[in-house]
Amino acid sequence: MTTLIRNGTVATARETRAADVLIEGERIVEVRAGIQAPAGATILDASGMYVMPGGIDVHTHLDMPMGEIRSSDDFETGTRAAAFGGTTCIVDYATQARGARMRDAFDAWRRMAEGKAAIDYGFHMIVTGLAGGGLADMDEIVREGVTSFKLFMAYPRSLMVDDGTIFRVMERAARNGALVCMHAENGLVIDVLVERALAEGKTAPAYHALTRPPLAEAEAVHRSVAIAEMAGAAVYIVHVSSRDALDEIRRARDRGAAVFAETCPQYLLLSVDDLERPDFEGAKYVLTPPLRPREHQAALWTGLRDGDLQVAATDHCPFRFADQKALGRGDFTKIPNGGPGIENRLQLLWHYGVNQGRLSVNRFVDLVSTAPARLFGLYPNKGEIAAGSDADVVIWDPAIEQTVGVATGHMRVDYSLYEGFQVKGAARTVLSRGEVIVNAGRFLGRAGRGRFQRRAPLGSS
Ligand SMILES: [Zn+2]
Repeated sequence: MTTLIRNGTVATARETRAADVLIEGERIVEVRAGIQAPAGATILDASGMYVMPGGIDVHTHLDMPMGEIRSSDDFETGTRAAAFGGTTCIVDYATQARGARMRDAFDAWRRMAEGKAAIDYGFHMIVTGLAGGGLADMDEIVREGVTSFKLFMAYPRSLMVDDGTIFRVMERAARNGALVCMHAENGLVIDVLVERALAEGKTAPAYHALTRPPLAEAEAVHRSVAIAEMAGAAVYIVHVSSRDALDEIRRARDRGAAVFAETCPQYLLLSVDDLERPDFEGAKYVLTPPLRPREHQAALWTGLRDGDLQVAATDHCPFRFADQKALGRGDFTKIPNGGPGIENRLQLLWHYGVNQGRLSVNRFVDLVSTAPARLFGLYPNKGEIAAGSDADVVIWDPAIEQTVGVATGHMRVDYSLYEGFQVKGAARTVLSRGEVIVNAGRFLGRAGRGRFQRRAPLGSS
């Protein structure tokens, strides 16, 4: 199967130029102006559009078990929604059950994705403990192509690990080429603040944010960076939400520490004010780390522009408002943490970033595709428009105007964090390994066509 994308403007992390893109089978074979269409080739006209590498979302939670419930998008509905938004690869989080083998979590998450995912996918492994050969398990998991681990400094009763465990995981990661992703919040201090709030009868959604102050995030970033430096390891801070945390990251990077970080659209566009919405609607905005006062947003945009933040991911973790978020009526600690966003990442970053002059087109491509591909061992198969790369391509129409919301979206959830937002610029045609899976608002892919990606160790791409 041969496809020629003609007359478009190819935008990569490095450059923007008029060029055609020739695809044979699953791969790009040529990128240059004036390619003659081979006989029998399918022609896609990209006049007036950008041709970019497909989006890579390295922070998703599909079909994620949380107590008695699960996040409301599974690998079928979540990856289909991702494709509509121009994302062609995700890296989802598998969770080691406390006391169980990492291999069991890896197998369980692969079973969840197989036969369902419409786009390619990989996994990170959340480590909840090292008992019973955990360090050797890490090596085994890296050999399977899971080359990143996540640790929690929050949630003492379920996921948090102590500093000694963080240090040992980081030392091992430095040896086996894995990247350690960190949820940086001081969970023990937060638990005291939460307990106190509940005792004072402060049960509304807004207290979720008020009991998790920015300094709890900044302190944990500082500590995790220091532990990483002692271990000789790199660290990747997930979902940076505050100026305070970003300041710690900038200081570490300025002295040459191997520190990387992501933020997410919700921290750039929403604020703690949203948690005050009446009729319990604030629960829709209960995410962790929490939304911050508005004044943090400008700092995060600057971080994305200047490179202190390298990645824009979503932390897509949707729960229905009607029957899942509702579990926390009368007690904010029982509101499932998380929100939907896997479909909206590119259009939001484009509209509020590129259209509003905060990001160049090339910086946009880097943040949503190339940098995550490089950091997480997918490059140059993914995250690039070049001969030899997978033909994961988005034909991006900068003129499409959309109103974001449940009515226009495809995520399996009953609300949008961005209901009513007017944005300009959207994915018109999306190719995954050479196959058109979305065109002009229609899904042409199928569940189960997505493939597990064995990712390379850090530093190999
Ligand atoms: Zn997350």
